[in-house]
Amino acid sequence: MNYWIFTIKTHIFEGKTYTAEDIYNTRMDDTFWAVKKNHTQRKRPSTGDEVVFYFGKPEEVFVGTAVLKSQFKESVKSEKEKYGHGNPFYTPDGGFELGDIDRWQKRKPIEEMIGRLHFIKNKQEFWVHLQGGITEILVKDFEIITQEGIERAKNITYRVKRDANLSNKIKLLYQNKCQICGESIKLKTDSYYSEVHHLQPLGGEHKGRDSEENMIVVCPNHHVEFDYGVIAINPETMESTHKDSNNHFNNKRVIINPKHKLSPKFLKYHIEKIFND
Ligand SMILES: [Zn+2]
Repeated sequence: MNYWIFTIKTHIFEGKTYTAEDIYNTRMDDTFWAVKKNHTQRKRPSTGDEVVFYFGKPEEVFVGTAVLKSQFKESVKSEKEKYGHGNPFYTPDGGFELGDIDRWQKRKPIEEMIGRLHFIKNKQEFWVHLQGGITEILVKDFEIITQEGIERAKNITYRVKRDANLSNKIKLLYQNKCQICGESIKLKTDSYYSEVHHLQPLGGEHKGRDSEENMIVVCPNHHVEFDYGVIAINPETMESTHKDSNNHFNNKRVIINPKHKLSPKFLKYHIEKIFND
């Protein structure tokens, strides 16, 4: 499944102004999203992909989500009539059928999340990343935009409190070095910082066990990648596997201390329920 931002801008067509709001409401009522038949990205989104809608300048807000119920298809005459509403501006070349439409009560200004969105490399001129109407994003960015990201961050805080003693023991075993990249963070006081990840998460629906067999030592970056299911450890090869096949840590041997009783059962849980989800 892939994730997309569809950007909507105010248009002037034959002397009449169509605001992003007008266009959005018309299309959501129709459960249809129009895209020009020469749009270079039109064939990339597919059925089941999730979309978040964004209003460009001047609003610059995310306004809601939907799931694609079709791939791009050129509109036949009856669809052109139905979705055109007797207006050439609305008459589509083609587009996507939509389902599970959620028009948010409270819209979310992009300004509040620019710092956290990974696809926005240029934080000053962020709009360059949203040009062209169709932008692919990672699931972690989709979650940040749709707020699930914040819920996850809360769970992480809760968890860290629970296992302080046990996690200190295992951090010591690895001398605070990340089992994926070998990095540790040196603090001012000559002490080192690392984090512990639970492969089967403790809280929520997962109800994982708070034990060494379910823990790995990681740096903050790799911790986030494990939490979001971007990276995992293959229990058969004991290599890291990454969603991005070009990532440096795809198919790399993981550091395992012989005294660490890591259980393949939990590695498998993480791969199946979080990485493959
Ligand atoms: Zn790391």
